[in-house]
Amino acid sequence: MSAATPDPVIPHQTDTRAAAKTAKKLHIITHGCQMNVYDSARMADVLAPLGYAPVDAPEGADMVIMNTCHIRERAAEKVFSALGRLRDMKSETGGRMMIAVTGCVAQAEGELIARRAPYVDLVVGPQAYHRLPELIAAVHRTQKIVLDTEFPAAPKFDFLPELAAPQGVIANLTIQEGCDKFCSFCVVPYTRGAEASRPAASVIAEARRMVAQGTREIALLGQNVNAYHGEGPDGATWSLARLLDALAEIPELARLRYTTSHPSDMSEDLILAHGRNPKLMPFLHLPVQSGSDKILAAMNRKHKADDFRRIIARLREVRPDMAFTSDFITGHPGETDADFAATMALVRETGFALAYSFNYSPRPGTPAAALPQLDQAVKDARLYELQAELRRQQDAFNAATVGLTTPVLFTGRGRHPGQIAGRSLYTQPVVIEVDTATGAAPLPGEVHMVKVTHANPNSLLGQLDTKELIAA
Ligand code: SAM
Ligand code: SF4
Repeated sequence: MSAATPDPVIPHQTDTRAAAKTAKKLHIITHGCQMNVYDSARMADVLAPLGYAPVDAPEGADMVIMNTCHIRERAAEKVFSALGRLRDMKSETGGRMMIAVTGCVAQAEGELIARRAPYVDLVVGPQAYHRLPELIAAVHRTQKIVLDTEFPAAPKFDFLPELAAPQGVIANLTIQEGCDKFCSFCVVPYTRGAEASRPAASVIAEARRMVAQGTREIALLGQNVNAYHGEGPDGATWSLARLLDALAEIPELARLRYTTSHPSDMSEDLILAHGRNPKLMPFLHLPVQSGSDKILAAMNRKHKADDFRRIIARLREVRPDMAFTSDFITGHPGETDADFAATMALVRETGFALAYSFNYSPRPGTPAAALPQLDQAVKDARLYELQAELRRQQDAFNAATVGLTTPVLFTGRGRHPGQIAGRSLYTQPVVIEVDTATGAAPLPGEVHMVKVTHANPNSLLGQLDTKELIAA
């Protein structure tokens, strides 16, 4: 997808059977990135011992958590309009429904939320989710809104309980949080705090538990995941490459990914891991943001366009079937036509499987927000041109898979009856029809070779090539 689309809203995975048995219904609304999806699952785990079980809809819930994202424009406005709807539902429960706002908007706009939406009960920043039980108790005790947006000395990883609920065939695992890079445009260092890595042993133990519950593909998550430097079981500091090698030893784990990476943390060792670790997928999300060195410097990115080119070339050397995605920002303060042309040139010469592109959005408190801003029409025209090229590249990438036979990790039923869905090496959704003669269909968690017969804009259609289970 190459679009400046609104952040997706992902309902938290629910287990309605569990909810039926318990008195307290919990509904979590998740905005933004995969790290928020992971955090929402952890919050559900923190609240389970208090008798809260997830439900599909907010109506009639005892607690609704809105886990928010602050990365782009109008984030706070979207939160306030959604909160308005929750206020009405809260009145329908006679005020019983507890409303919590979590995530980066909570961190950045906590005081404003308390002023503008006094019916909210809890405002909790990303570093305080482990304290939810005591914060809920404080709301009951004081009958007042409770705010917790402190950055504690020890990262929240040390306090969160073990991930409990099964995460599905494809799952995320947060290994690193926060960021010390302070790109000119970005709120993350302010909302997520300083960079912190989880100890390798706790990551490996969590991955083993996930795999024991049926997970076959794990994406390691972090705002700067390739800056990972966690304490190893041997007392040494482990790099991401070393952690990936250790995780690859879990026998039933078929696939590993990691996201999001920063070009200046793309070490040679990590590049080589793509050549030596067969479970590491040949697909990397590596945001470059711009192809102009002047703008990269203005963005405080600490890498140049040629550094990005070198990394791509090295990765293609060690793993020739590598494909890439990236993030781009158009219209950062100071961007001229020549700077934008440099971005377009980098895009054309690299060739992306897909990429995300956004108009620069001034975020309060970040350095670039204080600079003179570009005309909106100029930004829009550049974004349009960039997205047209990225869409063309994505279509070409998908079209090139037609006729190929490729391993697909099956995840479950497709959208239509008789369809089974899975993911390619490059995360493309792949759909096959169940064999009507035999009724044979791959089970979730199995990897089978599929011959791709057709490419849609965002998915592939195919036929099972062999029913033999293979190791991807
Ligand atoms: N850590 C990653 C990196 O360094 O590339 C990116 C994390 S950020 C949460 C995800 C993407 O949102 C960025 O790569 C950037 O393209 C986009 N983004 C962040 N702040 C933005 C802003 N103020 N305006 C537009 N896009 C923004
Ligand atoms: Fe934001 Fe990524 Fe830059 Fe950190 S490295 S400040 S998360 S864009």
